[in-house]
Amino acid sequence: MALSQEFRVLLEREPKFIDIMCSLEATAKQPKGMINETKEVVAIARKFNDEVVRPYALELDRKRTEDPEFLPWEFVKKANEWGFYSMWIPKIFGGKGYCMPSMSYFIEEIGSACLSMANLIGVHYLGFATLTATWNMRLVNRLARKVVKGEKTGDPCLISLAITEPGAGTDVEESELVDRGKITGHAEKVKGGYVVNGRKVFISNGHLSAWHMLVVYGDLKRPSDTYVVLAVPTGAKGFSFGRQEHKMGQKGCPASELIFEDCFIPDELVAMDEGQSRGLFRSARETNMQIIDYVVSVTRAGVGAFGTGVARGAFEEALKFAGETEVDGKPLINHEWAQCMLAEMYKNVTIARLCYVETNYANGMYGIFKTLQMKPLYYYAKMLPKFYIDLVIAPMMNKNWMTKLMRKIGLDGQKDEEIHRTSGWASIAKVVGTDMGIRNCQLALELMGQAGLRQDKVVEKHLRDSKLLQIYEGTNQLNHLNIFKCLIARSCPRAVVFDE
Ligand SMILES: Cc1cc2nc3c(=O)[nH]c(=O)nc-3n(C[C@H](O)[C@H](O)[C@H](O)COP(=O)(O)OP(=O)(O)OC[C@H]3O[C@@H](n4cnc5c(N)ncnc54)[C@H](O)[C@@H]3O)c2cc1C
Repeated sequence: MALSQEFRVLLEREPKFIDIMCSLEATAKQPKGMINETKEVVAIARKFNDEVVRPYALELDRKRTEDPEFLPWEFVKKANEWGFYSMWIPKIFGGKGYCMPSMSYFIEEIGSACLSMANLIGVHYLGFATLTATWNMRLVNRLARKVVKGEKTGDPCLISLAITEPGAGTDVEESELVDRGKITGHAEKVKGGYVVNGRKVFISNGHLSAWHMLVVYGDLKRPSDTYVVLAVPTGAKGFSFGRQEHKMGQKGCPASELIFEDCFIPDELVAMDEGQSRGLFRSARETNMQIIDYVVSVTRAGVGAFGTGVARGAFEEALKFAGETEVDGKPLINHEWAQCMLAEMYKNVTIARLCYVETNYANGMYGIFKTLQMKPLYYYAKMLPKFYIDLVIAPMMNKNWMTKLMRKIGLDGQKDEEIHRTSGWASIAKVVGTDMGIRNCQLALELMGQAGLRQDKVVEKHLRDSKLLQIYEGTNQLNHLNIFKCLIARSCPRAVVFDE
């Protein structure tokens, strides 16, 4: 039944119905196949938790506390064997092609047992999502197939994302601030490619990755116009690893320094530069902002899922403890105050999950997942036989017209209000999930008393790990500003965000 004009006007009034109810819009449009895929993914994650994550989580944390140079290859090889590094690479690029939203449920599961290990898998998709957001189909195809090959040969091929610099963290996460950052990452155009200089810090999985999606700038006086996104292989001349950070939590996952000294990167490894971004519907600056928003709309939902996971892990430990412990002559679980605390923790997990799920809907309707979740394309991709993909589809991906077509659909086709909606929701998911993560760790420790402080009860590690979530993928302060910018400011004519 079509809505009357009067009703349509009422729904457009702030807060816009579509902004607050992406799920309702999405339910009829999403392919049903995604439901079973998601269930399958969660079941696999639970099996992996039982067999690999829980038995090794505390040991890895201890090993890397004692020796931060020790690299967790054993775990990465296991995750590679289980097929997790190509699980969410679309089938047309040779991957397993599980639906994208199922990844956040997977990450919640792994995060409930160990955030370091969730990050050792999840961050690979931060690198892959950045490459995908440039819609450079030739490079996406090239790197995706290396990841798939790495799974077959048992030699993991991970991708990292390197944006943060020693003097610029928040600034380079938010395109409107990038011109104010103390940026040194410079890419100079030379014949046949770029020469890169600069340093990147706190790069998750840096030392473990075979490829690094590197964001640098063609002109340090106007970085927001001159993003250069490069795919840099480990071993490139002029590229080396520096120190690994000694951090308070998520110790199992390395945070690396990457050093570039006159490092030449050929044109074929340029995912996006000013020349390419200028040719699109928006200005180069706006396109760069759009690409960052595209990526963070997925990855912030992912960090929200990490937070949900750790909130759940803390809840589950507290629940187990309350069931096993006697206080005042009766089980702790039968004390009313303990029941209220456990109910609060359960509620926190649920709220956090709802936020990342709603963000998934937004990404599926308006963001980077959109093309993959269109019903005809979704089922077409599922049905394609492998030989057809390899013989017909893969060569097509290497054509320049394919990159142009996908940029037209993906970047030019996205409306400004759709960018704001997905980006705003992603910030909500990130802030809520990570705050709930910390909150539940604190509540669990309160309920468990001294037992919670013991390392074999895991909650102490969960608390250390969860603090980091509030910082990466944009600090929670920055994400609050983004919520204001994307979802509130447009109905306040006098509001200025990121004022100088
Ligand atoms: C464990 C870990 C893993 C990471 N992994 C990666 C990775 O894989 N790749 C990568 O590129 N980066 C990574 N990072 C870097 C991360 O994205 C940055 O730490 C984050 O963006 C914050 O930057 P900063 O630490 O430099 O803080 P700063 O930018 O120095 O901020 C300091 C404080 O000032 C506030 N602030 C700054 N600017 C503003 C503003 N304009 N308005 C209001 N408040 C402001 C911040 O909220 C914060 O409270 C990782 C970080 C950690 C801790």
